Amino acid sequence: MTRRNRGTSVVVMNEEPWECKICSTIYKDPNAKLLECQRCKDHFCIKCLNKSKPEYDLLSKSDSMWFCVPCRKIVEEHIVTDLKIEARCKEIMANYEQRIQLLELAVDTKCDETRVREIVEESIIKNSCDKDNDQRNS
Ligand SMILES: [Zn+2]
Ligand SMILES: [Zn+2]
Repeated sequence: MTRRNRGTSVVVMNEEPWECKICSTIYKDPNAKLLECQRCKDHFCIKCLNKSKPEYDLLSKSDSMWFCVPCRKIVEEHIVTDLKIEARCKEIMANYEQRIQLLELAVDTKCDETRVREIVEESIIKNSCDKDNDQRNS
């Protein structure tokens, strides 16, 4: 019983007429060759799209998204914007990396061990010399 009901509902869904957005033709045939835009969900018959049957078969069978002309423009613009954002992000990241590398270099120079030792040794020698001088003076 459940199975029969489900079957009926599928048939009802398939019998829902499709209207071509361009020529406004109502297609009642469930096998009518129309493409649904993945963005605006409007339907377009292959006559208006100037598509051949093999082209339609390919588009309807493949998982590739199909967009009507106005939607395709919007989608492509978005893709371009996304690519631009991606490029900008990479640029910023590259700049940051460069800056970090420069900072690391600066830190390395400041904390250069031999230089620190030199400074310490110089001051030790200076101190001992001062002490020598003190002893000599006293
Ligand atoms: Zn049409
Ligand atoms: Zn569309």
